[in-house]
Amino acid sequence: MSTHDDLSLTESQLETLNKYNLTKDELNNLYQRRGAICAERSALCTSLNQQYRHFKALGIISDIANEIITPCGICRQFIREFGKEITLVMFQSNGQEFMIRTLEEILPFSFGPEQLK
Ligand SMILES: [Zn+2]
Repeated sequence: MSTHDDLSLTESQLETLNKYNLTKDELNNLYQRRGAICAERSALCTSLNQQYRHFKALGIISDIANEIITPCGICRQFIREFGKEITLVMFQSNGQEFMIRTLEEILPFSFGPEQLK
C-alpha cells in the first residue's frame, strides 16, 4: 500500500533515501513500482487460497482524497488472468462516487490465458 502517512523506515531504506537524495514519497513510489503487493492482488490471492477462481466483480476503494481509485498496471494484468469481463467498481474515498468498468475497458488489447492455448 502506498500511503501519505509517515513511513517507518528501515536502515537500508534510509541509506537508499540518502544515497539517491529521494523524498519519502519517491521512495514509497519506487517500492510500489517494484511490485509490492497491492490490495487488489492481495484480495485475489486470498480468494484463490480459499479455492475461488471465477470472479464476477471487484470493488476498489482508497483513502486518497477526491479521486476515484483505479488498479495499477500490475494489478490490471493480474486481474486479467482471471477474465477480461470482470467488473471493477472503483470508488472515491467518500464511498459515494464510483465508476464501473470491465477489466477489458481499463486494459484494452490485453494478453491473457486464452492466447496461450
Ligand atoms: Zn496494484
